[in-house]
Amino acid sequence: MGSCSGKRSNNNSATKNSNNKPETDNSSPQKLQPNDAQSCLGNLIITSEKLGRITKDYTLLNPPLGSGIQIIQSPLGAYGEVRKAIHKSTNLMKAVKIIHKSQTSKEEQERLMNEVKMLQKLDHPNIIKIFEFYQDDRFFYIVTELCTGGELFDKIRHEGSFSEKKAAEIMKQILSAINYCHDEKIVHRDLKPENLLYESEKENSMLKIIDFGTSKEFVPNQKLNQKLGTPYYIAPEVLKKKYDEKCDIWSCGVILYILLCGQNILSNLRYPPFDGKTEDKIMEKVSKGVYSFDTQEWEEVTKEAKEFIRKMLQLDPSKRYSAQQALNDPWIKKFSNPTEFDRPLMTKVLTNMRKFTEQQKLQEAVFKFIVNQLATKEEKAELLKIFQCLDTNQDGKLSKEELLAGYSKIMKPVEAAEEVNRIFQQVDKNNSGSIDYTEFVIATIDRQQLLSKQRLQVTFRMFDKDKSGSITIDELKEIFSGIPEEMWKQVVQEFDSNSDGQISLEEFFSMMKKID
Ligand code: ADP
Repeated sequence: MGSCSGKRSNNNSATKNSNNKPETDNSSPQKLQPNDAQSCLGNLIITSEKLGRITKDYTLLNPPLGSGIQIIQSPLGAYGEVRKAIHKSTNLMKAVKIIHKSQTSKEEQERLMNEVKMLQKLDHPNIIKIFEFYQDDRFFYIVTELCTGGELFDKIRHEGSFSEKKAAEIMKQILSAINYCHDEKIVHRDLKPENLLYESEKENSMLKIIDFGTSKEFVPNQKLNQKLGTPYYIAPEVLKKKYDEKCDIWSCGVILYILLCGQNILSNLRYPPFDGKTEDKIMEKVSKGVYSFDTQEWEEVTKEAKEFIRKMLQLDPSKRYSAQQALNDPWIKKFSNPTEFDRPLMTKVLTNMRKFTEQQKLQEAVFKFIVNQLATKEEKAELLKIFQCLDTNQDGKLSKEELLAGYSKIMKPVEAAEEVNRIFQQVDKNNSGSIDYTEFVIATIDRQQLLSKQRLQVTFRMFDKDKSGSITIDELKEIFSGIPEEMWKQVVQEFDSNSDGQISLEEFFSMMKKID
């Protein structure tokens, strides 16, 4: 087996958009439209686009994140960096990706806009969450959740190879997120260990997929043709510029191969399945799709694991596993524990969901805002456990059948069916036919705990942008843009007890108290 330097593959990723031309199939990454990066009540991920200096709201910290490198030299030659930042009014830590406007090509800027647009559409526990998007004269900034556990890439470097159990737990998370993306008709196109981050330093921390700059919406049965990706992980059909979403599954196969045969810690070498001294040599190997399990490292690895890799590294994409098939593979099932059924917790969470009632528009918006921006990971942890337990096909969404199976465990079948129908009408706000992760969190989170006085005060301060002591229609329009002014007028009237056309802190408190 050959080996290659353990350097970041960023240094070796000229393939990323190597033809430097916009895609002809479905247009290039589109320019961000005014409403794309903005929040609206229909959108679950409330993201706001702001003009002006980010330092009004955030303190950016040094040094930049990301393997200790100071500047990320992106494959397109653009300048950017990712920094930790403290949100001034809440003291919450976030990550901020900063891109220099004058030192980036139009194409690189479009890549960034594309990333914002894609992240706004995605709502899955294993996909990085976006909060805000800023720009000033010199920079673009994307504010996302912060991952403090480092890259999977570094974990591979430190740990050498992984046990099959651990590798299966990792793959299950990646495949669950990719299955969700493919269901949403989005292909990532640059999956690699550098783009998989651990949420925290804890032993059982979750993984999050980042870097959606090269992702793209696809139309089923229509091929994509832009050559994008990173040499070791790129699928052969991408090199031929005729491919579909299965290219992500190929990259998953490469990742699993590396996880199981690992890295030689002493020489700092790692063993990808398709390897070579130069990029051309790597590509040659990728095109042929020939790899082996012949070396010593593979002796201990089970037949089932190798068979699973073969199904993902199948040269013909039509015969390659889909993400859903991969999640149902016997190896994944054997090694990754299904989420335990915790009856008291399930009962508590599903009872909260039963109580969930339709709120007034502004209450609902404020509530979503708090869940998205201010709720802590700890507050959501139990809910995530139940979500995963209910999500039996692991597609990152709850279908009616899955929810029914959950309720049937805590009540009679007829009651359960009625309850589920009612809940779907109220909770499935975007009428997707299934309940997304954030919809679930909003419906089940402990409201009393979430709506603490301190949090409401912080939220009020964030909405009261000019610090006048009351929230105006203009301020609401800015935060939740895309909603017609008329609607805000009606909403404000309802809670504006002294009829001054604005919402004071007291009025804000009494409005939120009405949420049970
Ligand atoms: P680029 O598009 O320039 O490749 P990435 O989005 O891949 O940028 O980020 C570069 C690096 O910055 C990542 O590999 C990671 O180490 C670090 N990074 C990015 N986003 C986060 C985050 N949300 N939390 C912590 N570190 C991050």
